[in-house]
Amino acid sequence: MAKRIQSIRGMNDYLPAETAVWQKVEAILKGTLARYGYSEIRLPVVEETSLFKRAIGEVTDVVEKEMYTFEDRDQLSLTLRPEGTAGCVRAGLENGIIYNQEQRLWYFGPMFRYEKPQKGRYRQFHQIGVEVFGLQGPDIDAEIIALTARWWHELGIADYVTLEINSIGSLEERYHYRQALVAFLEQHKSHLDADCQRRMYTNPLRVLDSKNSEVQALLVDAPKLSDYLNNESKTHFNGLCNMLTSLGIKYTINECLVRGLDYYNRTVFEWVTKNLGAQGTVCAGGRYDGLVSQLGGHATPAVGFAMGIERLILLIQSVNPGFIKQDNLDIYMIGLGSSAQIPAMLLAETLRNALPKVKLMTNHGGGNAKKQFARADKWGAKIALVLGENEIAAKEVVVKDLRNGQQETIGQDRLIEHLSSMLK
Ligand code: ATP
Ligand code: MG
Repeated sequence: MAKRIQSIRGMNDYLPAETAVWQKVEAILKGTLARYGYSEIRLPVVEETSLFKRAIGEVTDVVEKEMYTFEDRDQLSLTLRPEGTAGCVRAGLENGIIYNQEQRLWYFGPMFRYEKPQKGRYRQFHQIGVEVFGLQGPDIDAEIIALTARWWHELGIADYVTLEINSIGSLEERYHYRQALVAFLEQHKSHLDADCQRRMYTNPLRVLDSKNSEVQALLVDAPKLSDYLNNESKTHFNGLCNMLTSLGIKYTINECLVRGLDYYNRTVFEWVTKNLGAQGTVCAGGRYDGLVSQLGGHATPAVGFAMGIERLILLIQSVNPGFIKQDNLDIYMIGLGSSAQIPAMLLAETLRNALPKVKLMTNHGGGNAKKQFARADKWGAKIALVLGENEIAAKEVVVKDLRNGQQETIGQDRLIEHLSSMLK
């Protein structure tokens, strides 16, 4: 036999048992977005590399070491998108839907990052994300958080996620804070690990969310970003806190929350869980008022978030196993003898027209009655319909209730009514 070709490490296949869960989760997520008046935007999976470098920042983990970058046949440097925001802003500018307008958008699709694959961390993963343009008050920040909180209730995981928020001010406020932080870190350089020593000059705020407990202990005495916020930023953040409280959404303020991507300002937030080990961030986002102008548009306030679907589904599976119940087949259509195949397929189509909600599978590939009933069981059908030569001649059909074994022969003209009452 020829040698088989394997999938790429960290890029998963999703088989039918899993896609059933994905479809249910996606339907809930997308349904909620529609109820808030948000619209879908679909974007390419590949963009020019310079887009991500400029939007995400050269010295972030994503750009420094996680991007899938390659040259196409015209030597143009392209990158498989590692996140959705940069492409969304690019598309918004290109299509003229951002300037002087209000947009509430969402996207869903695969993202690519060259990371070490492990539970909850893959090289191809999926995100659903929201991006809102043209609104600067904290009320919209509160709304997108409220929307995510509603998701948790609908998915049955509300008790297993908690909200952390922070304000990281403007670029200018961070610039002053950065100087104070670097001065502090320089005094304690010998206690920092190699990663933090490197970040200290390239992206010092990232030292704040180091996972190293020694570094965290040191940071207790570090200057606080909140002391460097101006009144406008403080008012914005207090506004958000008040609204969350009014909406009954619990949160904690985490002064070390800074987010990995450069483009955030003011509000940042994360929904975290203790149920997924080290991969505890389920959903993360914030405000990015500077990004639209950074990418060549007129200054436009913006806020958004992204959520990893794989991590979300791992969490649902670990805390809410009832969610995963398979949605079984309603009816299996059996045709006995080769002359029954076409009448069976025709009757199946008639039933699909009349009963659009019913899941009906037709037997294919022949087989005797025993084989075909075994297939009906395998697919978990509730009812088997049997058409043989006699039934076809008499315009009848055998209806067998597979849940209790009872069977009867009825006229095909009564079938729709009969099945509707059986499946009630
Ligand atoms: P982490 O700290 O876990 O690396 P991140 O800060 O890189 O996360 P974001 O860029 O904010 O993550 O992406 C938002 C969400 O996308 C994450 O909270 C997570 O749910 C998901 N995510 C990010 N990277 C991966 C990955 N490699 N595999 C699966 N999901 C991911
Ligand atoms: Mg990451």
